[in-house]
Amino acid sequence: MLSLLSKIESIKKVGPAYLKKLHKLNIKIVQDLFFHFPHRYDDFSQIIPIDQLKTGQTATIQGKVVEIKSSHTWQKKMSLTEAIIEDKTGSIKAIWFNQPYLTQTLIKGKKINLAGKLTFVKKTLCFSNPVQEVINQNTDPTHTGRLVPIYPETAGLTSRYLRYLIKPLLYLTNQITDFLPDLIKKKFNLTDLSQAIKQIHFPAHSQSIKTARQRLAFDELFLIQLTTLQQKQKLNQEKASQIPFDQKLIKSFVQNLPFKLTDDQRLAAWEIFQDLSKNQPMNRLLNGDVGSGKTIIAIMNILQTAQAGYQTALMAPTEILAKQHFETFKQVLKKYKLNIALLIGSSKNKVQLKKKISQGKINIIIGTHALIQESLSFNNLALVIIDEQHRFGVAQRAALQKRIYQIKDGLATIPHLLSMTATPIPRTLTLTIYGDLDISLIKQLPKGRQKIITKIVTPADRNKTYNFVKKQIKQKKQAFVICPLIDQSDKLGVKSVTQEYEKLSKEIFPKFKVDMIHGKLKPIEKEQIMKKFKSQKTDLLISTSVVEVGVDIPNATVMIIEGADRFGLAQLHQFRGRIGRSADQSYCFLFTDSPAKKTHQRLKAVLTAKDGFELAEEDLKIRGPGDFTGSRQWGLPDLTMASLSDLDLIKKSRQAAQMVIAHNLVIPELKSKLKEFEKIIHLE
Ligand code: ADP
Ligand code: MG
Repeated sequence: MLSLLSKIESIKKVGPAYLKKLHKLNIKIVQDLFFHFPHRYDDFSQIIPIDQLKTGQTATIQGKVVEIKSSHTWQKKMSLTEAIIEDKTGSIKAIWFNQPYLTQTLIKGKKINLAGKLTFVKKTLCFSNPVQEVINQNTDPTHTGRLVPIYPETAGLTSRYLRYLIKPLLYLTNQITDFLPDLIKKKFNLTDLSQAIKQIHFPAHSQSIKTARQRLAFDELFLIQLTTLQQKQKLNQEKASQIPFDQKLIKSFVQNLPFKLTDDQRLAAWEIFQDLSKNQPMNRLLNGDVGSGKTIIAIMNILQTAQAGYQTALMAPTEILAKQHFETFKQVLKKYKLNIALLIGSSKNKVQLKKKISQGKINIIIGTHALIQESLSFNNLALVIIDEQHRFGVAQRAALQKRIYQIKDGLATIPHLLSMTATPIPRTLTLTIYGDLDISLIKQLPKGRQKIITKIVTPADRNKTYNFVKKQIKQKKQAFVICPLIDQSDKLGVKSVTQEYEKLSKEIFPKFKVDMIHGKLKPIEKEQIMKKFKSQKTDLLISTSVVEVGVDIPNATVMIIEGADRFGLAQLHQFRGRIGRSADQSYCFLFTDSPAKKTHQRLKAVLTAKDGFELAEEDLKIRGPGDFTGSRQWGLPDLTMASLSDLDLIKKSRQAAQMVIAHNLVIPELKSKLKEFEKIIHLE
């Protein structure tokens, strides 16, 4: 007897070949089949009399097979099956290619349904390759005569096969336990889980699809909400070191800066100071557009932490960026006589460095993933900062979180955590997958920055643009050229950047100093290349999209982005943020070879958008949430991905999760569901 937990191979229809394919989709037990949702439906619900059929129409008919035969076409390469179907009102021809076996099921005299598109073949109206199904008195149709589920057809599994598998098993959905407390279902007007599952696969009518989707999308969002709120609660029960606000210190530091902080910078810094002064760990995201000046805020907080006698660790996604921060910190904090160290994969004196860190002789540790990979022990770590946090995968973030808990090591406190990102995160996401974070926003750029002039460049205008860039370089300006990856095998961008380098250094800019940087180079090589660029020994730097992040070179005022159409809008905005970092006019050229109108329209958004947030919302609409925030890596189903832009449903799910926590409604079914869910999203 089958149950929800039966292995999928215990279904007779699943042979070894299909088993492999089902496993590829992560369908291992019967229950998994039910949670493999269709992504759309063919509406074959109306049965139409044959004499009312029209060309171009998609329709279902019901009739008897009058004639059927298979033959080979003249090339002998294809088989052709032809049939005549008749109902009370008339008859019609149907043809199929390469399905000779149909003659064995669609036997003369059988009652069948045909569904599909009507076309003219050799001047007669007929069904070409229609969906066919023999009609049985006792059961309702599966593939025709109804709303027919279409599944995402990956791994070579057809929707027909999945329907054939799922429909006879639907009775088992009654065994699915509903993990939502009744109170929540009632309050938010949600249908039962088993009902929703039944209806999502074989809906009675279109309204039932809607009702089912509502429930299923709600579920996923609700689980995200509950998980993040619980995380937050858990963190709130921990203790952190209190770092009181040191007004005198900060005032004198700010007064000595070469610039005046923007209001948004002040507010963000203040919010962080407030968090640090509490005895609960901070978990805050500092979200500010590229070039908005997040680093200086981090420095202020680190300085205060160091002066209070605690250590800070700052983690950056690339060695270049870690190194840049290291240099900046040393310079900005010069007069405070703090010990600042750089810990990256290629650091030479690691053993010694680690010892010093554990003895508390280092105040500020700047590094890459090395910080979580190496077995580091700190002396009194009170603050952890992650720069460009969106560049770290969910798993890495989780690893860091774990490390932070481990650092506790019998101590009474865990460190405050500040994440920084320039990726504007749409509100819908801050309310869901970032729901456990407090957020500080920097919306304004420092005074005196000019709007970057951005242009879309078609192949015809390339030369003109290159000439313009030459003129800029002659005026002692520098330029970036960003290249998209050529193909999957070019993960490090070697091919892409090298090709561009050959072309630009030899043909286009032979008189200038051109350099390139990509993922395959050794850290020391990368460092030298960046140093040369920073000290203006290079005019033009060709780079992959991977190494660009966070780099601060104010004299670079020109950027060319090759194959701009291959990037997301928010990502383009990020690249562009590498320029426009001084009071001089900057220029960004989006190169595209695509003549498609749609592409140009999409790119135009980069020209007109007010800020990165607007572009992020646009991206969310066009490409879904997977692109930024690494939410793809959450392994969430498509349905959830779609609902991650449904603000209304998100708000409801949040309210529900808050209710569950406030009234302690975590029933056992919900508890085990949460466990399962945490596994999916790598929290466990
Ligand atoms: P991001 O937020 O992208 O990390 P950075 O912190 O690298 O930006 O700052 C970009 C540049 O702007 C740096 O050169 C920094 O010194 C400068 N900067 C930061 N704040 C201000 C300000 N209030 N006025 C002028 N320049 C500033
Ligand atoms: Mg930065």
